[in-house]
Amino acid sequence: MPQAVTTTVYVVPHTHWDREWYATFETFRAQLVELWDQLLVLTEADPDFRFLMDGQTVVIDDYLEVRPEAKTRLEAAIRRGQIQVGPWYTLPDEFLVSGETLVRDLQRGIASADAHGGSMRVGYLPDSFGHAAQMPQIYRQLGFAHAAVWRGVPLAIDRVAFTWEAPDGSGILTAYMGNSYSHGVDLPTEPAALATRIAAALKAIEPFRPAGDVLLMNGNDHVLPQAALSAAARGASGRLDGTVIRLARLEDYVATLPEQGWPRWRGELRSSARANILMGTLSVRAPDKQRYFTATVALERMAEPIAALTGIDATGALDQAWRLILQNAAHDTACGSGIDAVAEASGERSAAAFEIAEQLVARALPLLAGAGQVWNPSPFPRQDLVEVDGALVLTPVIAGGSVSELTTTRPLIPARAGGTRLENAHLACELHSDGTLAVLDRQTGLRYPGLVQLVDQGDAGDEYNYSPLASDRQPADPLRRLTSQVEEAGPLRARLVAHYEYAVYSGLSDDRRARAEVETTLPIQLSLSLEADKPRLDVELEVPSTACPRPVAVSGIAFRRRHPVSRDGTSRDRRAARSRGARGGAADVSHVVVR
Ligand SMILES: [Zn+2]
Repeated sequence: MPQAVTTTVYVVPHTHWDREWYATFETFRAQLVELWDQLLVLTEADPDFRFLMDGQTVVIDDYLEVRPEAKTRLEAAIRRGQIQVGPWYTLPDEFLVSGETLVRDLQRGIASADAHGGSMRVGYLPDSFGHAAQMPQIYRQLGFAHAAVWRGVPLAIDRVAFTWEAPDGSGILTAYMGNSYSHGVDLPTEPAALATRIAAALKAIEPFRPAGDVLLMNGNDHVLPQAALSAAARGASGRLDGTVIRLARLEDYVATLPEQGWPRWRGELRSSARANILMGTLSVRAPDKQRYFTATVALERMAEPIAALTGIDATGALDQAWRLILQNAAHDTACGSGIDAVAEASGERSAAAFEIAEQLVARALPLLAGAGQVWNPSPFPRQDLVEVDGALVLTPVIAGGSVSELTTTRPLIPARAGGTRLENAHLACELHSDGTLAVLDRQTGLRYPGLVQLVDQGDAGDEYNYSPLASDRQPADPLRRLTSQVEEAGPLRARLVAHYEYAVYSGLSDDRRARAEVETTLPIQLSLSLEADKPRLDVELEVPSTACPRPVAVSGIAFRRRHPVSRDGTSRDRRAARSRGARGGAADVSHVVVR
């Protein structure tokens, strides 16, 4: 008598397709075309074969651009449930893109997958470097019942699934791929060997699985399907007592998970306990990240709302701009962890998206505000400086999203600049000869010395991880030749610009444990602006990263801002300073520009 089935091993054949990374998009696309070609033949010949196309639909577009004639066969395989596509358009990094980008990425992916035969509805992000807290909320609002993740899951989760909760309380049953998305890659296709390998996989997952069925992800980065696997799975099933092996869709497996009884986790998943979350990717290639952010803001906060308000025909242009933004959201692209050629291609997409957004704004804005008028794009009442024919004009207070006549308004108390000092009614700021700033908050009497101090730290790591040097040092008196001049004396805006040289040791010793002796001087520009009636100091610091022979060998100059401490002893960070709005007083640092 055959034994009763106690365990089903759900083998999910898949590939993880980084669209561009250590090779360019076209290099990987040539392999992708080969993958799709093989997969269509395989699924047509073997009705039991299943394949998960990495949870993203951009790989459909990339294939059909080259093989438009394959569309009907591809869609038939998706409709038969043999190939799973969607729900994402690209697999994004969740921390380096805007929240709106995540939503648009899913919307575009689901629409595209549905148009090609049906979308998988599992929040599957196999490789993202940690996960944002709001993902369960986004998934639930799109009607998903399940998610599947690997990196970032903390030690507190000790089962193959958990209930993952967003800050708003939305919970989603989440499969934890504790042994990664490649645990079942390259399985033996001889039944006895497959049975042995499956038995080993069951043992490895035992600590996470007190009972129930098992998920085995049969794939890895850029791998092709294993054609002989279906027959091998049938042959191996009879060799393991009570265990059935079947090729399956990810949705088949998650549907077997009991709804209740799992550990819970609320908030983001950023633990490196069991898988590296590669946190250095948050800051590598900073100029590219800044350009991408600028393009996203121009599209999301300006072009799209203005097009909606004015009713201009912008659908096609907006769609094109979003496509570029979403392609740059892909985790290796947004992270900057690819080769230089990938960063250049991504930079061109950011530039194109920005230009599309800029052109839409230029077309639509005159419809909102005519000559002599000004429009407030923020949802809040606002008074600000605008530039008209090269001259600064102070607007009246304008209600959020409203238009006003641009009458000249006088500030209550002007901003002034003289020597190395800037001041207005709220703040007084002094630039010292060592390049640091001292700021006095005139409302509270608090002083903030030593702001904007540069620190150069050696880095023997790579695009993924910062690795401090065993012995690190800096040239003596690294800040040299500081000069400054008043560029705007007030009364609407006071602006001081300083230039200085900053000496660093660039390059590493042969054993990569210390600095090389080569001294490089970086020309730094520091701009300080203070507007009348505003409790905010704008600081712009330009650091030319190109002056370093190798950015890996000499780290970017870390920008250390000493957080002023409030009376209750808590540190005031930048967001806190901003959120206090017009009543606040702490110096607020704008941003660092790395060129
Ligand atoms: Zn990846």
